[in-house]
Amino acid sequence: LDWCLNQPKIELHAHLNGSVRDSTLLELARALGERGVIDFNDVESVISKDDRSLVECFRLFDLIHVLTTDHATVTRITKEVIEDFASENIVYVELRTTPKKNAVIGMTKRSYMEAVINGLKSIDSVDVDYIPSGMAQQNSSTTLTGDGIIGMSNGSVRKKIYVRLLLSIDRRETTAAAMETVKLALEMRDVGVVGIDLSGNPVIGEWATFLPALKFAKEQGLAVTLHCGEVPDRKEEISAMLNFLPQRIGHACFIKGEERIKLKSSKIPVEICLTSNIRTERFPSLEYHHFIDLYKSKHPMVLCTDDTGVFSTTLSREYSLAASAFGLGRKEMFELTRSATEFVFADDGVKISLREIFDAAAKNFM
Ligand code: 5GP
Repeated sequence: LDWCLNQPKIELHAHLNGSVRDSTLLELARALGERGVIDFNDVESVISKDDRSLVECFRLFDLIHVLTTDHATVTRITKEVIEDFASENIVYVELRTTPKKNAVIGMTKRSYMEAVINGLKSIDSVDVDYIPSGMAQQNSSTTLTGDGIIGMSNGSVRKKIYVRLLLSIDRRETTAAAMETVKLALEMRDVGVVGIDLSGNPVIGEWATFLPALKFAKEQGLAVTLHCGEVPDRKEEISAMLNFLPQRIGHACFIKGEERIKLKSSKIPVEICLTSNIRTERFPSLEYHHFIDLYKSKHPMVLCTDDTGVFSTTLSREYSLAASAFGLGRKEMFELTRSATEFVFADDGVKISLREIFDAAAKNFM
């Protein structure tokens, strides 16, 4: 559907290493294969596979990390991922990634994140706004055009994308490691870090391990989003997560009964990732997906991709999928995205700009 591609969109749930182009992964794998570090043929079949169970996905993430975790590659994939998002008219993205350490190559969590920032700085095909207002000179030569694209005042139209970063805590990490990530996020607020995400294999780790770091993040004014209810409840984790009152949650597939009622009354916005949920077999088909129940209850939510690379999708494709599976027209889809401007983690200045973008685009897409 052309309008799914053309309308301005907001992406709030995208993992950096899950969004790497297949062509880049294969190129990196070939190079490591030639150096004898990995067996290229084995890796090629894993990367090229389409359907993956949850367990296979997390194995793939470990493989991707072998291919991408050096400073230059982190910079490269960040650049490519943002360029790909901008090319499908995403005007605001919160990109999340787990800061990684690797003493062998002198990588610390901070240097990993600096490599991400270098990726943002290296983009020249599109204007990238990642520094919060008040922290640096804003690009004052931009004006709005009707289709949500920002035009330069010298007459040449260039796209602009707002990028903000979330640092992920991996459920394999300890309390101390989680705390290190939160402290790093606080130190990097001036380069666009706005929040913390809890992710990683949902059947590993205990809520109590991450709670001290997440509490500290909240107290210090960082926004928090949690992968919540991705698998059937373990040790009453869903209820504990909802009681924590995160600013958003991701997935929410197995939030049922009393907890679904609690979620709805809390009005915590939900990041919905349709293809990811189907590929990892959380639902037999979209007919059983909780999207429609939340949508009908007017619960705040936003369609997202999760991992464009791992699940071979794009945000436009997710829109098209939702429109056809749930019978939504372009007006409804436009309103759904526009509503997400209210729960982005960026400052009010960005929210105002996003509202203007959607107001300007409304006449073309509704
Ligand atoms: P990274 O943080 O390395 O940039 O992105 C990949 C990581 O994001 C994975 O290793 C995993 O921790 C997390 N991730 C990506 N997709 C999912 C998902 O669907 N569910 C969960 N729980 N974690 C995910």
